Amino acid sequence: MSEILVLVEQVDGEVKKVTLELLTLARSLGTPSAVWAGPGFTADAKARLAEYGAEKVYVAGSADVVDYVVAPKAELLAQLVGSAAPSAVLVAATAEGKEVAGRLAVKTDSGVITDAVGVGDGLVADQSIFGGGVNVHSRVTKGTPIIAVRPNSTAPSPAPAAGAEEEVSVALSDAAKASKIVDRVKQEKGARPELTEAAIVVSGGRGVGSAENFSVIENLADVLGAAVGASRAATDAGWYPHQFQVGQTGKTVSPQLYIAAGISGAIQHRAGMQTAKTIIAINKDPEAPIFELADFGVVGDLHQVVPQLADEVSKRK
Ligand code: FAD
Repeated sequence: MSEILVLVEQVDGEVKKVTLELLTLARSLGTPSAVWAGPGFTADAKARLAEYGAEKVYVAGSADVVDYVVAPKAELLAQLVGSAAPSAVLVAATAEGKEVAGRLAVKTDSGVITDAVGVGDGLVADQSIFGGGVNVHSRVTKGTPIIAVRPNSTAPSPAPAAGAEEEVSVALSDAAKASKIVDRVKQEKGARPELTEAAIVVSGGRGVGSAENFSVIENLADVLGAAVGASRAATDAGWYPHQFQVGQTGKTVSPQLYIAAGISGAIQHRAGMQTAKTIIAINKDPEAPIFELADFGVVGDLHQVVPQLADEVSKRK
């Protein structure tokens, strides 16, 4: 079967869930090979990748691959595209993944598809375009298809494979070393899942009313094991940190469940969340545009509805 390269996303040697999703997807398209960039490849990581179907893991263990900004990963993948001639390359549609995909496409003179929410027979991708306004089916017609797939698009399922390790040394160009990472600031992990990877996201908007009131949103998120998001109105007001903003100029999320509380549903917000599988809107204005998008809607004051919902969920746990 044809080889499908999957670029591994990891934090401190721990393989991120999106990589397990990509390996699961890759199995339906061909034979997955994982690509590990940088030091820190452990027996645990190898076992995890093999568990989800990686027949092979290419390990480029040099620190250079991760000490410079993005470009080395594209050079590593370009080298592997040349030597292994895979039938496709899958990366996570994160900010970095999309940049790697774009650079790789230029280097290999190939077509690229970003923000795919599925890939089927013939490597036809289900793609969300125009800020999420339109879904199209797209196929790369030139070179090696490079597809950036949104987190949460595929349910990860294990299917053990060999996970054979193959070391790769990559000779980086001077251009790839143009910007060096000089410091890494560790983000407090906290108990909540990472926003772009979370299966459930509870977001608050201007309707929340204040920074203090965001505890209502956080309480619901915590009983659901969800991540917290916010609209730009809420982050611009300083009620919630910008890193949690969902939308065109924030993060793109594609969870199983998205709960929007006190959010009107502006196009720029939709761009970041409308590929969620199920959307619940809570808004006191029955005419709010978010209801056009929502699968379920509650017309009411979020300060009453959200705590009641959190209570009900806790009772049923
Ligand atoms: P509003 O539009 O003010 O809506 C608040 C909603 O809360 C209303 O529907 C109201 O009925 C409801 N409400 C009020 N009180 C309550 C209550 N007690 N209970 C229940 N409901 C209540 N926005 C983003 O979110 N993300 C982006 O990435 C983003 N990028 C942008 C980029 C550009 C270039 C531009 C121009 C704009 C961008 N915006 C973005 C802003 C966007 O256009 C909207 O202004 C923003 O999304 C509005 O946020 P909101 O829905 O929280 O606020």
